[in-house]
Amino acid sequence: MSLNRSSHPLVAHKLAILRDKTTEPKQFRELVRELTWLLGYEAMADLATRPEQIETPLEPMTAARLEPRVGLIPILRAGLGMVDAMLELLPTAEVWHIGLYRDERTLKPVEYYNKLPDAATVQVCLILDPMLATGGSSAATVDILKQWGAARIKQVSLIAAPEGVATLSAAHPDVDIHVAAIDSHLNERGYIVPGLGDAGDRQFGTFAGPASEPGHGSDDETAEIVRRLQREVGTS
Ligand code: URA
Repeated sequence: MSLNRSSHPLVAHKLAILRDKTTEPKQFRELVRELTWLLGYEAMADLATRPEQIETPLEPMTAARLEPRVGLIPILRAGLGMVDAMLELLPTAEVWHIGLYRDERTLKPVEYYNKLPDAATVQVCLILDPMLATGGSSAATVDILKQWGAARIKQVSLIAAPEGVATLSAAHPDVDIHVAAIDSHLNERGYIVPGLGDAGDRQFGTFAGPASEPGHGSDDETAEIVRRLQREVGTS
């Protein structure tokens, strides 16, 4: 597994404003976008290129063009805010949506939306989720993408919890993880601490909703899931 935490001062600066509880949704969305550019740029540093003959106004030369086709897979809903920034970097990328929710009884992610064609149309997939919290949705998304035939998969997140990194890398050690920060732990509601709160609510201004994303079940159920993860990772 390669776990890459950006050490760029711009990333640290923008993340500090993003985390601040007084940052309003408009600025929050702008920062998600800017951080996604910076992390996306780093996450794609090792993509293969192929030589291509071109002619500049002065003379012919051998230039480099990106070789693999790239797919963007936002984890709904908070990952949607990362898509436009990635498309600005890579306008020809394909965007594939996969919808998963967690069954509160079995704790297994259940797929409710998947329109992937039979065979993979891209070689590299970037899973986009601002928060790598429990890692359950990411690991399940990687399962689906591998079955589809994606050759290479990377996770791009703004903030990760150690529990999420451990879950994803145990299930899929070949997946590269790119983050701006690795925080202390998950709390009993499944939120990353210190984190930034609910990345979906903060982007979309939906603070009054009954079910924020980290824990859709009762608090007891969520706390038990988190305790189990913490025992596995040793952060409890
Ligand atoms: N999802 C969020 O939006 N925030 C967290 O802290 C964890 C998961």
